[in-house]
Amino acid sequence: MVSRVIPVDPFDLVIFGGTGDLARRKILPALFRRFLAGQIPEGSKIIGAARSELDDDAYRQLVAEALAEFHDGEMDQKCLTDFLRGLSYEQVDAVGEAGWDALAGHMRPDMVRAFYFSVGPSLFGALAERLQLHGMVDPDTRIVVEKPFGRDLETARALNQSLAVHFDESQIYRIDHYLGKETVQNLMAIRFGNMLFEPLWNSQYIDHIQITVAETVGVQGRGDYYDRSGATRDMVQNHLMQLLCLIAMEPPAKFDPDAVRDEKLKVIRALDPVEPQDIVRGQYLLAGDRAGYLEDVENSASTTESFVAMKLHVSNWRWAATPFYLRTGKRLKARASEIAVVFKETPHSIFDEDAGRHRNTLSIRLQPNEGIDLDVTIKEPGPGGMRLIDVPLDMTFSEALGPDSEAAADAYERLIMDVIRGNQTLFMRGDEVEAAWAWTDPIIQGWTERGDQPLAYDTGSSGPDDALALMHRDGRRWREIRE
Ligand code: NAD
Repeated sequence: MVSRVIPVDPFDLVIFGGTGDLARRKILPALFRRFLAGQIPEGSKIIGAARSELDDDAYRQLVAEALAEFHDGEMDQKCLTDFLRGLSYEQVDAVGEAGWDALAGHMRPDMVRAFYFSVGPSLFGALAERLQLHGMVDPDTRIVVEKPFGRDLETARALNQSLAVHFDESQIYRIDHYLGKETVQNLMAIRFGNMLFEPLWNSQYIDHIQITVAETVGVQGRGDYYDRSGATRDMVQNHLMQLLCLIAMEPPAKFDPDAVRDEKLKVIRALDPVEPQDIVRGQYLLAGDRAGYLEDVENSASTTESFVAMKLHVSNWRWAATPFYLRTGKRLKARASEIAVVFKETPHSIFDEDAGRHRNTLSIRLQPNEGIDLDVTIKEPGPGGMRLIDVPLDMTFSEALGPDSEAAADAYERLIMDVIRGNQTLFMRGDEVEAAWAWTDPIIQGWTERGDQPLAYDTGSSGPDDALALMHRDGRRWREIRE
């Protein structure tokens, strides 16, 4: 089955920070792939805007080099030339006056207009203000903002307020690329498009839920930024929290942006504060010639965590007795992100004790190899009697759907097209972000007040032993971290 590519309306898209790492690695390759797929119509304009002094040709050259490095599909020279022709560049200073009139000169009336703020959050307010000042904002104009969206409730509120002066909430697209993943959206389709799962989706049938986002890399030259952030701010407050919301939320009345986001917000607000004994923090140790966390961030006194595991409770009728276990960290044994919904055992086994007790697990793999598996218990084939084994039922449906490049589209491709289409469903609303910080802040403050030190863990491990104990003491175990 070949999925349909429905072209979006022609647009003017300005990428502030258009020469930066994120633009080169993610945003421009995503746009190029949508162009190759025929989703970006002729007449659309992409304008890079940044501090560097470049002309259009030099910018096209920069983008061509970025695509040569980061576009991993085939490179059709004619398409590349056509794509580059639609690019231009303006040298703009977010906090000065240079370049703004020239940028405004690019804008065409009656065109979808979007501004991607691929710059540090300290520039968001200045950009919003200057866009307004230079007459580039109409009621249909959209802005896209990147993480980190604040470092606590206070700063997130201030950012929201600085944007709200110039933009309505319906114009602000706060990106969390985890929400753009095919499988994450499929999770909603599976939950709300089938009769099969929803009746079981509660404490009565689900034993617990695990969410793991494991990386093998360390802080990768971002030590200074990371050390001021840490795993809780960098990953839990946004990505893991969003995944938890999609698993835990009530069915919205409609698949519409505010209906979905209202339900997600209710989940965050229903989260209990986390007790100190339900959280484990860690820092990776040096291994061979690979530096440890403290060396990587060049701060021997750092108490910032590169790993965190926690047990959470969503205090509502649906989840009252089902714990959620979250963990994320760097320099772990494999790069693997997954959500596992672990069902309860059957209330009674009709089989011999030898058959063992089994559980269904629905696992949603986000990376690598996005896909969904449902472990079901069957009879082990053969004449050896009634022995039970668990086998994964592959629910990725790649065979049924056929080889299909659209399904492999990267999260940024999907999300940028949603911005152009004006669909905010997969973007975080301001009140969601603030609620997530309101829940996260006391956790971080608690560590500071108590002077808690992170525990050391080996590079290539599953994190500190205490993180394993967090589940063992409840008679449960983490799933293996593997690619
Ligand atoms: P970067 O330092 O590589 O690029 C920053 C860009 O902003 C450059 O194009 C620079 O010219 C421009 N810029 C800086 N100051 C400016 C000013 N005063 N006026 C106009 N332009 C200015 O940064 P990056 O890695 O591309 O990250 C951009 C934002 O995206 C940051 O907030 C970052 O936290 C976030 N982010 C980055 C990644 C990533 O993978 N790189 C991932 C998620 C979020």
